[in-house]
Amino acid sequence: MTTYHCPQDGTRSPISALTWCCPVCRGPWDLDFRAAPGLTPHVLPGRANSLWRYEEILPLAAPEVSLGEGRTPLVPLTDTVSAKLDYLMPTLSFKDRGAVMLAELARRLAPDRVVADSSGNAGTSIAAYCARAALPCTVYVPEGTSPKKTEQIRAHGAVLVAVPGGREATALAARAAADEPGVFYASHVFNPYFLHGTKT
Ligand SMILES: [Zn+2]
Repeated sequence: MTTYHCPQDGTRSPISALTWCCPVCRGPWDLDFRAAPGLTPHVLPGRANSLWRYEEILPLAAPEVSLGEGRTPLVPLTDTVSAKLDYLMPTLSFKDRGAVMLAELARRLAPDRVVADSSGNAGTSIAAYCARAALPCTVYVPEGTSPKKTEQIRAHGAVLVAVPGGREATALAARAAADEPGVFYASHVFNPYFLHGTKT
């Protein structure tokens, strides 16, 4: 496994340390990762029917976690515009592309629990993928989040914490929990693995 590094000040951290941001500047991590060669269109047929078919360009090889995410239809609308139908993803949003990466990473790190914060879709996605990976998960949401979203999160088996105040108060509550030992912060803002998933 590679290491986190800070693009601002060069600080490094092993991924197993579960640090969720740079301890010097509190900024988001980047990842020391270089894609492996060999990914060309002719190797794709016959591979897994999920975003894991792009294994060479993803920072985790030989994954165990999947709900069949990715491979959504691309529908031409005009000569120059197409629609990528990511509402057909397992939890109905593109966030599944990042959540599957975070869940696979967390499965390997085996934390005591996973925490996430969300105003809806990301929390649902993280909850679903943690269930798939058999990881205990707590999702912080702003008080007043749509019941449809909170029911989805609970249906995936996550503990739901409704935080008074807005989105920022929710993020602060999750980050306080993330600072506790043994906690993996499945942050769709701070964790670069999430972005490696969404790039697909
Ligand atoms: Zn830094």
